[in-house]
Amino acid sequence: MLSTKEQAPKLALILPAYNEEEMLSHTLAKLKQIKADLIKEQKIATGSFILVVDDGSKDKTYAIMQEEEAREDGILAVKLSRNYGHQPALIAGLQESIKLADITITLDADLQDSPEIIGQMVDQYRAGNEIVYAVRSSRETDSWFKKNSALAFYKVAGWLGVELVPNHADFRLMSKTAVEALLAIPERNLFLRAMVPLLGYQSTEVYYERAKREAGTSKYPLKKMLNFAIDGITSFSVKPIKLLFNLGLLVSSVAGIEIAYTIIEKLIGNPTAGWSSLMISIWLLGGLNLIAIGVVGTYIGKVFTEVKGRPLFNIEKETGVLDTRPSNER
Ligand code: UDP
Ligand code: MG
Repeated sequence: MLSTKEQAPKLALILPAYNEEEMLSHTLAKLKQIKADLIKEQKIATGSFILVVDDGSKDKTYAIMQEEEAREDGILAVKLSRNYGHQPALIAGLQESIKLADITITLDADLQDSPEIIGQMVDQYRAGNEIVYAVRSSRETDSWFKKNSALAFYKVAGWLGVELVPNHADFRLMSKTAVEALLAIPERNLFLRAMVPLLGYQSTEVYYERAKREAGTSKYPLKKMLNFAIDGITSFSVKPIKLLFNLGLLVSSVAGIEIAYTIIEKLIGNPTAGWSSLMISIWLLGGLNLIAIGVVGTYIGKVFTEVKGRPLFNIEKETGVLDTRPSNER
């Protein structure tokens, strides 16, 4: 029997859409064309489909989806009960589409994630990768602010030990194996671009130029973006707590210096009245406070990682006595 990697896989293209009435028809037309071409080239199976997740849009997005779904096979529409946000919408799409597909590709509904590289991503899957990250080759289409804030974010995240693929957002291919492993994580604070690398499995990157949004507006205003970045880092690193503890030690040691200074002052016989008692207590108590918060934080950090219930491991393959599948299917 051929494995799905030798056969053309059934692909699900997953589009989260929030108030995308201005873009959606155009995006779907383009994706339908690309899907048809890939089927013709026998890169993907005939049953491949596009699944749009309406993330509680307030405009005509869902009406457009329904029209498209009724008009032809190969388009599925899922409507969420309200606006949950981009990341939960992606999980909803993955969960629904993996019931029918062998592989999934998530991409934005505004065509900023160039669909022209979908074929290349599928090739990489068929070459043996379970996850294919689409990475932006440049940030020329970004504003100065977005470019530099992204750079700062990757620097800080890297320093705090959050494993990320730089310049990759949520445009990625995942095999059924990888999607199922991701869906098994009960985590609520979703930051998929850091969760997916934690899954392991063989992965690779393909590069693309990110286009400008052609119509509609960005659904990620500055405040939302900033919250997303802070959430992302704090969900994946307990280092900030350790920093607090270390800061406490540093502040307390200043009190040590002050004690030494007071003794010297006394010996020389030139003490300033009240200075030492005041300064030493401020720095010592301040430092002790920070240490105490750091200690409590360390325990909370442990609770935090336990509560996430992330799997300890994902098994990629089982062979030998453990494998109960018939030998011709291994
Ligand atoms: N999106 C969503 N729910 C939200 C916000 C955004 O499903 O609450 C979708 C949006 O429709 C688009 C994708 O997520 O398909 C990326 O959003 P957007 O293009 O606005 O972000 P940007 O490209 O500006 O970072
Ligand atoms: Mg966009």
